[in-house]
Amino acid sequence: MLKAILLKRGMRSDRFLSYPFLRFSFLRNFIVALDAYALLQSQYWPREDIKAIQLERIRDILTHAKEKIPFWRDKFAAAKIDPQKISDWNEFLRLPITYKTDFKSKPVAYFTDQDLFAQEHITNTTSGSTAEPLIFFQDRHYETRSLAIARRILKIVSRSTLLPVIQVRARDRRGFDNNENLWFHTYNHNQLKYRINNLYQLAKNLKGPFVLYGFSSYLIEIARLCSEREIPLHPVAVIATGEGLQPSQKEFIESHLKTEVFNCYTTTELGWLAQDCEEHNLHINSEFAYVEIVDKDGMPLENGKQGRVIVTTFDNKIMPFIRYDTGDLGSLFTELCACGRTLPQLKIIGRQVDMIVLPDNRTVPSLDILGVFEKRLEFIRQYQLIQKNVDEFFVKIVPEKETIGSDRLIAIANHLRRNLHPGIRVEFEIVKEIPSTASGKKIYFKSLINAASPHHKDAPTS
Ligand SMILES: [Zn+2]
Repeated sequence: MLKAILLKRGMRSDRFLSYPFLRFSFLRNFIVALDAYALLQSQYWPREDIKAIQLERIRDILTHAKEKIPFWRDKFAAAKIDPQKISDWNEFLRLPITYKTDFKSKPVAYFTDQDLFAQEHITNTTSGSTAEPLIFFQDRHYETRSLAIARRILKIVSRSTLLPVIQVRARDRRGFDNNENLWFHTYNHNQLKYRINNLYQLAKNLKGPFVLYGFSSYLIEIARLCSEREIPLHPVAVIATGEGLQPSQKEFIESHLKTEVFNCYTTTELGWLAQDCEEHNLHINSEFAYVEIVDKDGMPLENGKQGRVIVTTFDNKIMPFIRYDTGDLGSLFTELCACGRTLPQLKIIGRQVDMIVLPDNRTVPSLDILGVFEKRLEFIRQYQLIQKNVDEFFVKIVPEKETIGSDRLIAIANHLRRNLHPGIRVEFEIVKEIPSTASGKKIYFKSLINAASPHHKDAPTS
């Protein structure tokens, strides 16, 4: 029964969501509750059982992709793979890795399910940690399972699946539930200092315990402001996403907000991939995604070895991500965790809070500049912002087409001045490629002034 729920078979079939009259929120809530119930059990199941479920779900998503999406049909044909006949892992692993750039300069209809496209769906952009802007789409099937995963996370951090979560929302649109009242909107990091009392008011209005969720760099600033202004925010727990947290930064938030911080590993396009347990080990949501670590040639690496993080998610049918390169580096561990969960553990390397230090000592997280480039993804393939001096920036751009007009470059420079500081100088160079770091990671922000600081030593530049 629980296995059928995880596999979305029978009563839990996604077909439900296709009937317009069944789209009412109570039905969706019922599905989410059912999924969450199954996920709270399956995290302790024997590993072979989960592996078997994963292979079935992979077969399902590949079969769907072949039927509905030309991009995948062509890719399977080239690799001579018939999704229905995949009977073991080796066959699946013959499929070449997919990169963000594979979707670019192709019509949306080529890589999406047009039937699902005609229904309600989410459109979003990301360039995340790879500095290559991408437009992507998420459907209802993804959304319901994703909300159930969020409840599993909530249970870990607060012992309850129903505690309110205040979501600090700048660019992130990933949600714990659809309750807009719990979103604390902030335009950017810099605005937090003017809006921190609004956050406190929102928490006070709840008249009870709550969890705080947001980007690591934003949480650090909230902790700093609460301590400086003696604001008694006191969330039951904090869930940090986006950039990774250094132990000292985690401690900083915990001591200033008098709470416990839990990390989670997410990407905008893939969703909730892994989260800390009570022991603070990052467990993969294996019922939702298959995570592999491969070397630079795409060959699978053994446990504990560091390599590229490749992900296949099972629920997003409108635009499946199959053997997709996240651009992140990490390693996998299968040792048993003291928490009792059998879900494998992941370590992510090199994601960190990168602060850009500006004139008048203003600091802005490098995350705040992503929007400038994502907004212009139709003509930017890849970018890198290099800070040469406190008020001097250099932007490298790999254009989508041949070149980029000067009016567009002026607009980018102005947008950067708005997000960073009005007094900065911005220069551009249009290049054919931007080299990755020695370890194979593409980075979007590089500071030449802080190069010697320990903050940056994990992100070597090539
Ligand atoms: Zn654990």
